[in-house]
Amino acid sequence: MTSKNDDESTPVHGVFRVIPRSEHSLSRKSISAGALRVLYRLHEAGFRACLVGGAVRDLLLGGHPKDFDVATNATPEEVRALFRNCRLIGRRFRLAHVVFGREIVEVATFRGSSDDGSGDRHLVDGRLVRDNVYGTIEEDAVRRDFTVNALYYDIADFSVLDAVGGMDDLQHRVLRLIGEPEQRYREDPVRMLRAVRLAAKLEFSIEAATAEPFARLGSLLGEAPPARLFDESLKMFLAGHGLASFRALERYGLLEQVFPATARALRSPNAASFRTLVEQTLANTDARVRADKPVTPAFLFAALLWEPVRALAQTGMDKGEDAGAAWSHAVARVIGEQAQRVAVPRRFTIAVEEIWAMQPRFHQRTKKRAFRLLEHPRFRAAYDFLVLRAGESDELAELAQWWTQAQSLNHEELAQQLAGLPTPPAAEPGATAPAKRKRPRRRRKRKSTSAAPATESSD
Ligand code: ATP
Ligand code: MG
Repeated sequence: MTSKNDDESTPVHGVFRVIPRSEHSLSRKSISAGALRVLYRLHEAGFRACLVGGAVRDLLLGGHPKDFDVATNATPEEVRALFRNCRLIGRRFRLAHVVFGREIVEVATFRGSSDDGSGDRHLVDGRLVRDNVYGTIEEDAVRRDFTVNALYYDIADFSVLDAVGGMDDLQHRVLRLIGEPEQRYREDPVRMLRAVRLAAKLEFSIEAATAEPFARLGSLLGEAPPARLFDESLKMFLAGHGLASFRALERYGLLEQVFPATARALRSPNAASFRTLVEQTLANTDARVRADKPVTPAFLFAALLWEPVRALAQTGMDKGEDAGAAWSHAVARVIGEQAQRVAVPRRFTIAVEEIWAMQPRFHQRTKKRAFRLLEHPRFRAAYDFLVLRAGESDELAELAQWWTQAQSLNHEELAQQLAGLPTPPAAEPGATAPAKRKRPRRRRKRKSTSAAPATESSD
């Protein structure tokens, strides 16, 4: 069955299958222009060149990959010598990026699985912190995460190469970790999140042995670099499959590893309306992504952390703190605790705080304040958030409706309507005193709590 891997070492993972062009559905027409150029140029220069990873998987499933990754036996330096528009990046994994206008094709050298001491591989407590040992296609395949992510489309004859049974799993829509699950999760706990995210995105099931360690090893995610968890959170929630990812995270018990306060709040007495808020936010986000509309992490995090911050502010007030103080203490604590898991960049947490701080202002329907609120640059986001909160109480539902209608009125009509309104009750934390947060204490101090070192996201 194999003639293809004559130049490879002995198979490391069962049979090496070569699926000829006539027996698979991946067509060159659906590969991006940039990726094709990279593949052909490498091939013409005498190197092996394959499309690999998510792009092969998605194309075989009939999808439209966002990015195209290429694997080759050329070293990064050899790749750079072939392309003018090329830069080498990465420390944990050294890679070449070939740039064609807005498209970036990532080119990686086949990575080896065994270290004879000649390469550059580094493990700390079982975790892979550097991996620049080069190897064969099969070795490259087995160090990937899931079997369906380890298929290669060979530009030499347009066949698909499968060293790990990925084609069968693709057909059965199964996500299966390559190798021994516990060891693979210890090497890189983020693989647990990738499993859940890809299963949600592809509508695959997670094979039993692949899912079994989640409960046991989920807490390893606490040691994952917060900057990577931020990137992974965006892929889970802002890539068009947010609701499915969220439900899968919860079902597999991993939500509490990444968003502990959210997971706790979803078991609290206010869980029902909070769940509606979160799920509706994610459903709206998915719809926006599908419609090619912009989405912002700020809105997502505002929703995920809303009930934790609301409940904590309430507790503060119950203990006698005034509303403004209770609110700002709660915001600082909830955002600070979340930052230890997921490094949300400061520009987004500032926006989150603004969306929250504007909520009480919707209650203040006096002429001057209402008009000022409507002109606020963040009005739209804050109003959208208010609408999502409508399930919290009848009063909020009425308020959201009022503001919806207010936006359809012209200046005079709105002024008239406001003149006829009774003074509103102060119904929620901070409703009387819009929480003005005292901002920057000391710059350096904040950095250590809200942002992870940038170096940790270098791969
Ligand atoms: P997506 O649709 O989100 O892009 P993807 O599978 O392409 O999914 P990428 O993060 O783009 O995900 O990774 C590209 C490929 O690199 C994967 O298909 C997989 O082969 C390999 N890979 C990525 N992350 C890991 C990891 N943590 N461990 C092992 N292999 C990985
Ligand atoms: Mg990808």
